[in-house]
Amino acid sequence: MIDVATVGVRAVVILSGGLDSTTCMAVADEKREEIYAVTFAYEQRHFREIEAAKKVAHYYRSFHHIIDLGKVFGASALTSSHLKPETEQQRSTIPLTYVPARNILFLSYALSFAEKVEASKIYIGVNALDNPGYPDCRPEFIDAFQHMIQVGTKSGTEGRGVQIEAPLINWTKAEIIAKAVELEAPLHLTHTCYNGTSPACGICDSCRLRREGFEELGLTDPILYRR
Ligand SMILES: [Zn+2]
Repeated sequence: MIDVATVGVRAVVILSGGLDSTTCMAVADEKREEIYAVTFAYEQRHFREIEAAKKVAHYYRSFHHIIDLGKVFGASALTSSHLKPETEQQRSTIPLTYVPARNILFLSYALSFAEKVEASKIYIGVNALDNPGYPDCRPEFIDAFQHMIQVGTKSGTEGRGVQIEAPLINWTKAEIIAKAVELEAPLHLTHTCYNGTSPACGICDSCRLRREGFEELGLTDPILYRR
């Protein structure tokens, strides 16, 4: 149970079950915010992330709401079995793992939910450095969405619009991991692999970035890899 005496503001955290969103949970938890975790199911290939998200939400004893978006997304290597995530060498300007307008939808659902539960913040674990080419992971996207909240919602027009928190946006993967470790985030429960295998594949972009981050810090990643 949440200790009411220590509860600060109410915050919605978009929780995928991966490293970045789990770090956002840790940041919100450190501030003693009352966390409402929201996880989106969208037939992603790495469906194991949803199971990981449940475990992370349980770890933080937060409310957890899973929203099923069905087959809304297409044309992405994360949702289509026909497209494989490309290697770094094959990467074009916008990666195949880009999911069309994903963070616009995620933030829109999270915003509606935030107004409903009267949360004053939404945490999203977007990161511009490790995800070059994703338009919806950049500071200008977050700024634009924040403006939309101010002019397009009841709370916004009343001068108390929901604040988007993107604490990781300018951090390297190593900096994200260092913060997660500092805050004792349950990284052993997270799932990051694009290929959705268990153990993680160890070679996709997502696994590679994670492993390099741990190596840079001289730390051992608590999850298992196939190779
Ligand atoms: Zn992988």
